[in-house]
Amino acid sequence: MTHVTTAEGPTGSVTARVPAKVNLQLSVGPLREDGYHDVVTVYHAVSLFDEVTVTGAERTSVVVTGEGGPAVPLGPANFAVRAAVALARATGRRGKGSGGVQIEIRKRIPVAAGLAGGSADAAAALVACNELWRTGLSTGELAEVGARIGSDVPFALTGGTAVGLGRGERLTTALVSGTYHWVLAFGATGLSTPDVYAACDRLRAARRGKDGKPPVIPEPQLSTGLMAALRSGDPVAVGPLLSNDLQPAALSLQPLLRRALQAGKEHGAHGAIVSGSGPTCAFLAKNASAARDLAVAVTGAGVCRAVVQVSGPAPGASVVESGAVA
Ligand code: ATP
Repeated sequence: MTHVTTAEGPTGSVTARVPAKVNLQLSVGPLREDGYHDVVTVYHAVSLFDEVTVTGAERTSVVVTGEGGPAVPLGPANFAVRAAVALARATGRRGKGSGGVQIEIRKRIPVAAGLAGGSADAAAALVACNELWRTGLSTGELAEVGARIGSDVPFALTGGTAVGLGRGERLTTALVSGTYHWVLAFGATGLSTPDVYAACDRLRAARRGKDGKPPVIPEPQLSTGLMAALRSGDPVAVGPLLSNDLQPAALSLQPLLRRALQAGKEHGAHGAIVSGSGPTCAFLAKNASAARDLAVAVTGAGVCRAVVQVSGPAPGASVVESGAVA
């Protein structure tokens, strides 16, 4: 890996690749007074990657190409920009005229899809800037910076399969055997995560127990059944144990997702679930060839905008190219 260091700081370009995630479990606790919910989630990184290239520059800027690019903000609201600025600040580069980067994001992860694409881009920018600037932060230190940008950023840095607590940012690696083969069905339009949580709260508030009052929402618990199935490496055991407390809310906002889930089950998926806040539906197949057949069948059913076949667990954000420019 080559860098050129000038009086203003290192120049050159670094490219990082970062995976999307699906949630194998997403249990949502009661609404807290600060407006957030505690969650217990099992994140699983899959082989659908965005790429982020950072190049030393006087000022920070961003361009976005690929899947859903026009929907991504280009200013300081962009998660990759926020990550670069946060790392420059955390490592004392900001203000010295050496903390600028030109950021190029090539998206394959759809936007507002429940696949944490924005958090993924933040993680990729952290890893790439850490390399470009030779700031030498560990993954744990980058995760601390990233958690302030989004609760899914620490997982995008580590990848694999992990249990997330708190708002999802407190991670423990999960013991998982084997490779899981998935078909992801993308929705025609995105869903906003805050809207889906709000719909979840409304649906819960409208429920009535035998006493006529809304039932108490329990604190979320990790599914020991799911963890045992993941250790066994058997997708047929894992499939029925996938769970997502946000699914009813996502379905209430996009009722057509029911047809997509139904199509996946009818065509042989062992598990069919909305990923995170949706609207992406994730279907678990028995093996790679079953996933290929399932992808063809779900495409033919005409229930979604596009279909991709992926596998997991995938590695977290990592540098794939690093070099100096003349
Ligand atoms: P969550 O992590 O809450 O599940 P999501 O996967 O549903 O989110 P994202 O693709 O992360 O959704 O996008 C959420 C919002 O973040 C978008 O509506 C977009 O305006 C904003 N955003 C900011 N930066 C980015 C980025 N680099 N890529 C995608 N979205 C971004």
